[in-house]
Amino acid sequence: MNPTQLFDPASSTYTYILFDEDSREAVIIDPVDEQIERDLATLERLNLRLLWALETHAHADHITSAARLAELTGARTAAPAGCDIGTAAVQLKGGDTLRFGREQLRVLPTPGHTSGSVSYYWQRATHPHDAPPGEAAPVPLGHQMRPDQRHDDRHVFTGDTLLIQGCGRTDFQSGDAGALFDSITGQLFTLPDTTIVWPGHDYHERTQSTIGVEKATNPRLAGRSRSEFIAFMDALALPRPRRMDEAVPANQRSGLRQDASAEAVLAAPEGAVKPADGYAGDISPQTAHDWWQGGKAVLVDVRTDAEREWVGFVPGATAVAWKQWPGMALNPDFDAGIVRALAEGLPLLMLCRSGVRSMAAARRATELGASAYNVLGGFEGDPDEHAHRGHKNGWRHAGLPWRQN
Ligand code: FE
Repeated sequence: MNPTQLFDPASSTYTYILFDEDSREAVIIDPVDEQIERDLATLERLNLRLLWALETHAHADHITSAARLAELTGARTAAPAGCDIGTAAVQLKGGDTLRFGREQLRVLPTPGHTSGSVSYYWQRATHPHDAPPGEAAPVPLGHQMRPDQRHDDRHVFTGDTLLIQGCGRTDFQSGDAGALFDSITGQLFTLPDTTIVWPGHDYHERTQSTIGVEKATNPRLAGRSRSEFIAFMDALALPRPRRMDEAVPANQRSGLRQDASAEAVLAAPEGAVKPADGYAGDISPQTAHDWWQGGKAVLVDVRTDAEREWVGFVPGATAVAWKQWPGMALNPDFDAGIVRALAEGLPLLMLCRSGVRSMAAARRATELGASAYNVLGGFEGDPDEHAHRGHKNGWRHAGLPWRQN
């Protein structure tokens, strides 16, 4: 099924994976942190290469996995420019398009739920093996449609702007009911009626609708004037989202929480080794280098073969990939590689791209009997506020030896 719709029961959030059927290049919209293993498994099962991790807005009810997905798959992050998600590699404006294979998504500015919210419109490219486009067969419109039924090749991913028989709230986070009304009526309701609406949430097990059905029957909008809509929204008096204080700041860093973030790294005095959960501790790149060069530890590069080849490598480091392309599957030879590295009887210093994978690898190595440390910031360091790496922490930024093929 394309798009694939995935549900997070804890937050009632829908995540979408869209792909080009020929190149298998894919996009994920609104991924949820707790569901990252499911999403990685879905990408692997469908044999997809993730190009983009997108947000419709900075969410208040769940934390995105965008940064971790980018780290683990090589995808790029993109987010609406108006959402203060400074860590996203690409800042999207209305009218921008994102390509994946022969397909493209168009960014529709739909402020209102938040001032930066966008929707994504996908009119699927015609493929040579498709039936020629013609008058679409009459199909019943509505949310009871079988999800795999392909009656139209137009899709809109509306985030929290337009929900099935509802809409997003406008009472916090720069929300504006008038702007929401204008976005829904002026942007979304001008799309063809058969366009399938894929919402950011549903709380009643409904999965999809169409523009035509929502235009005719959405109780918040059908037959209401702009001022009636504003008065209705202002009177809702909804409770505050449970995770708001935690989620919004984390989402403005593409889902990086404080504990895996630059702040945590910067707070560590140079060379400090901090006790950690499940492994020996965190260590600065400079100290790691000194231990390694002094013969007191083994430096283990846990990045993929492809990253070492393309991005650069540390001459003399022991390569034991934690995950590998394609699909970032766990490397079945990881344990054996660690056991070999342990033959010298020295602690292991785990180095990855930015210090996320190396923590998982250090925990596993600990289970295998190692005294394993996580090298803070990894090879490339942390993204700065513009999502560029290389200016903040990490092995290369510390001026330590590395080479490119
Ligand atoms: Fe939201």
